[in-house]
Amino acid sequence: MSKKNNIQELIHLDKKHFIHPTSSIAQQQANGPSAIFTEGKGIYLKDIQGHSYIDGMSSLWNVNVGHGRKELAEAAKEQMEKLAFSSCFSTFSHEPAIRLATKIASLAPRELNAVFFTSGGSEANDTAFKLARHYWLLKGKPNRQKIISRTKSYHGVAMGATSATGLKPFRDFTNSLAPDFYYVDGSSIEELRNVIEQEGAETLAAFITEPIQGAGGVNFAPPGYMQEVRRICDQYGILLITDEVITGFGRTGTFFGIEHDGVIPDMMCFAKGVTSGYAQLGGVVLSETLHQELISLSRETLFHGYTYSGHPMACAVALKNIEIIETEKLVENAKLRGVDLLSGFQEIQSKRNIIGHVRALGLIGAIQIVKNRQTGERFQTPVAPLIVAEAMKQGLICRAVTFDQDTVVFAPPLIITKQEIAELIGRLDKAVAAVEQVLQ
Ligand code: PLP
Repeated sequence: MSKKNNIQELIHLDKKHFIHPTSSIAQQQANGPSAIFTEGKGIYLKDIQGHSYIDGMSSLWNVNVGHGRKELAEAAKEQMEKLAFSSCFSTFSHEPAIRLATKIASLAPRELNAVFFTSGGSEANDTAFKLARHYWLLKGKPNRQKIISRTKSYHGVAMGATSATGLKPFRDFTNSLAPDFYYVDGSSIEELRNVIEQEGAETLAAFITEPIQGAGGVNFAPPGYMQEVRRICDQYGILLITDEVITGFGRTGTFFGIEHDGVIPDMMCFAKGVTSGYAQLGGVVLSETLHQELISLSRETLFHGYTYSGHPMACAVALKNIEIIETEKLVENAKLRGVDLLSGFQEIQSKRNIIGHVRALGLIGAIQIVKNRQTGERFQTPVAPLIVAEAMKQGLICRAVTFDQDTVVFAPPLIITKQEIAELIGRLDKAVAAVEQVLQ
């Protein structure tokens, strides 16, 4: 089959048989897949037509060590050949899971010390909600069931994770959600206090927050917010869960995002960067206090577990991935290159009138699109998707966020060099310039 016919066939089969996650079905049916990727190397992805792109999103904020890492393929192969799978149920164990739990405990903020593994981030958050409620049951407080989360948050698509997600379109997708989830304005401590008072602390199990909201538009909490949240949770005896699925494993220039705030949660969820997407893995790290309470109060089986909790190959890949992050000093690189990324955004902002507020911490950042920079007025129809489409033509993948805002977000791989940041900024500037011209 010729290359052209092969592409045509793949497009046809994609439309006919493949239901894409978090995608527009109408767009797929009208235009086929927007790219069919075939290979990746470093910060670059290549599609089936041979076009090369800077992966400005680390794909789904997860390919932290970049594409095409042979060491990770070798770690997977070695583990698969030795022991592809064995169960972790019924206290069965294996070395990759034990070593990885120990490693994560050593990296996580002090106090966080014991790990429950899942296959991804949604399962990690659902696990944290269930463990929080289970803990309160064991403590003889069965009424502590409610979970509070923040507006504009994203916690995944499992039933609990969807129900905790503050971004309404994800909740409105189905009209029946898990009970006992409540939402507060993501920047208002006042509202958090009000909801706690209204619902009654004795009915609250946990509060969950991302250290920096990712999918909601790379939103930073106001200064002091996390510290105040910790104080309030302590005051009312509510467990604090941080969702580090995006911010973990170096993304923000520290190993975990919450380190910027100096706050220690009771549970911390992770996924994505733990394996840089080379294998499916997530989990929850519990504080030593919580773990000790479970040890002393648990009498029965812990009736919660996924077939792939502690998958040997995924754990082996994670261990190697963390080794790469450490030996190549990628956390430090994220911090340094984040400064370059932000100054690149500022440079574009100084040239292009449609760029409003720009922000970045480590290698997670965003540019806001505005009609009027002085007033912050937005365009009636979001412009970010136009910039993303134009950037794609320039060979740059980034993402538009249009939930109550008009923003383009970025999260390039942590291996990115100063020169590659300049290349990313150059392509972005061309895309912004082209869109600005059309709008005039
Ligand atoms: N939590 C956050 C902060 C996320 O960004 C995501 C995914 O983007 C999730 C949870 C869900 O993770 P997964 O898609 O692995 O289930």
